[in-house]
Amino acid sequence: MDNPLLGQDSLPQFARIRPEHVEPAIRALLDSNRERIAALAQLAEPTFAAVVEPLEELQHRTARTWSPVSHLNAVVNSEGLRAGYNACLPLLSAYHTDLAQSEPLYSAYRTIAEREGATLAPVQRRLLEHAVREFRLAGVGLPAERKERFKMAMLELAQLQAKFEENVLDATNSWSRHVTEQEELRGLNDMLIEQAARRAQERQLPGWVLSLDQPTYVAVVTDAESEPLRRAFYEAWTTRASDEGPSPGRWDNSAVMEEILARRHRAAQLLDFPSYAQYALATRMAHSTEEVLGFLRQLAAAARATARAEFAELEEFAGRKLAAWDVGFYAERLQRERFAISQEQLRPYFPLPRVLEGLFGVAERLFGVRIREHSGAPVWHPDVRFFEIIGAGGEALGSFYLDAYARPHKRSGAWMDECVGRKQLAGSSALPVAYLVTNFLPPGSTRPALLTHDDVVTLFHEFGHGLHHLLTRVDYPSIAGINGVAWDAVELPSQFLENYAWHPEVLQRISGHFESGAPLPAEAQSRLIATRSFHAGLSMVRQLEFALFDFRIHAEYSPERGGRIAEVLREVRSEVSVVPVPAWNRFAHSFGHIFAGGYAAGYYSYKWAEVLAADAFGAFEEHGVFDRATAQRFLEAILSRGGSRDALEAFVEFRGRRPDVRALLRQHGISSAAEQAA
Ligand SMILES: [Zn+2]
Repeated sequence: MDNPLLGQDSLPQFARIRPEHVEPAIRALLDSNRERIAALAQLAEPTFAAVVEPLEELQHRTARTWSPVSHLNAVVNSEGLRAGYNACLPLLSAYHTDLAQSEPLYSAYRTIAEREGATLAPVQRRLLEHAVREFRLAGVGLPAERKERFKMAMLELAQLQAKFEENVLDATNSWSRHVTEQEELRGLNDMLIEQAARRAQERQLPGWVLSLDQPTYVAVVTDAESEPLRRAFYEAWTTRASDEGPSPGRWDNSAVMEEILARRHRAAQLLDFPSYAQYALATRMAHSTEEVLGFLRQLAAAARATARAEFAELEEFAGRKLAAWDVGFYAERLQRERFAISQEQLRPYFPLPRVLEGLFGVAERLFGVRIREHSGAPVWHPDVRFFEIIGAGGEALGSFYLDAYARPHKRSGAWMDECVGRKQLAGSSALPVAYLVTNFLPPGSTRPALLTHDDVVTLFHEFGHGLHHLLTRVDYPSIAGINGVAWDAVELPSQFLENYAWHPEVLQRISGHFESGAPLPAEAQSRLIATRSFHAGLSMVRQLEFALFDFRIHAEYSPERGGRIAEVLREVRSEVSVVPVPAWNRFAHSFGHIFAGGYAAGYYSYKWAEVLAADAFGAFEEHGVFDRATAQRFLEAILSRGGSRDALEAFVEFRGRRPDVRALLRQHGISSAAEQAA
């Protein structure tokens, strides 16, 4: 069959892939996989070579076939592609569920671990441990009746989470603000005002209609000079889907949240975990609830005094007591006054070609690799560029695409994704290939693409993920690159590399005015670097409030007492918050990260990974940020190891000790004096 998706060339044939190829390819792939798996599951004498290697091969093939589909759906979306993509989602989901729930494979892996464990290489043992753990967490080992209850809890959970999101969406869409006095819009940008005028026209109303989407909400609380307008938006936003605010009780998530916590708790207990938090930690770098709570409280103790001082200073700047809806507005003004530097002003200094050259230079200096552009690879859009990454000995290590510019039918945001995973199996091998996708402003007819510094940081971040994928030396797909890496450690390489985008020496290399070529003036550069720690205390206690709330409700749930959602939130606020919060604030009712999404008992990971990254970068600061020996150790202990070892052990090997929060505090100008004062 001439279906380009089923070819196993080293790179996907993007130009030949059509929507009508998608579903037939995935069906054919999954059918043949299932046949193969059924045969493997029946082997009387399972061995690593006879069962695990072929399954790794199948995993590689499945990911390799699906990757261009989901990628194209994200970057050159069309009705046809979307239909093909959506038709395949349930097929893949059923396939993965069957695989995860397979009793015969579970028992084969356990047999292999028992019989061959002693003779296998550490990375192979780790693969088995990892796989057995995944089977167990999917409920495979449970007796029939418990297994049914586990499946039921997971099914209900999926429905409840969807309901939670629907309520938030409906509540968000139901609210808008009709403005008739132009005065009330003062401070808002022209684009937003134009959009609001158009909305009013559509509804045949005079004036302007502001909706409650996130960009509008953020713009209003940051820029609107009218306090009543800011307050109205703040109230509508923080009471969505709750018993408070403009439409109390209409889409109230209170009961849904309780039900979600109850199902998570039940699922965890069925697998013999005391709480959902402990269940979640089974696959994380952090190993105990005490460790996570201690970590968050240690940061809170250090940051709170700084946050208090920042808030006091902000009130002094405003000349009055501030309410929650005033903070963003005055913070923006204080920041403008203090740093007199805007992202837009920085653009001319960061032309993309110059930034890329500097970024690749950082990777080359650190890891001894070379990156060179390669023309002729099949791409999905003429703007896409393709690069090869070559090792110190001249050997090919992998390659990546860069799709840099925003355009219609391309998903917003920035990400790194796996195009091809690395494998080195008996009889077949592949080098890793990555997609780097960003949404920068495209070049003009007479100028290159110009980046804000935020864009530069984003590019470094995604390239950090890219290096994690590309520099892996693990041979088995399930634990190579970013696969199988503890979820709270996966942002380590990306946040680590961000540090270079703030380093004076790097800033000199990646900046160059697109007309004059002059690097960013020293004085602007120091102001830019200073913005990094602006209101670091306030933003840290805010993140800690979310993280502590999330973790505590998942650690402390009991069927007798229920979730105590409101009480826990109150306790956490009195413990860490600095900015006064109105009693009617119901932010938890729209906290989709944890109630609807994958961050349940995991919001702490943001700070956790920041600490790892700052502390790892600290080792470079001690020895020189381009010290080759340190970089080599980082590569060997962490970056190249994928999920082939415990994340904490890897960190300890690199740093010679466990992670320490002080590096992050220092990076954000939160002094140890503040730690004492708290
Ligand atoms: Zn990331």
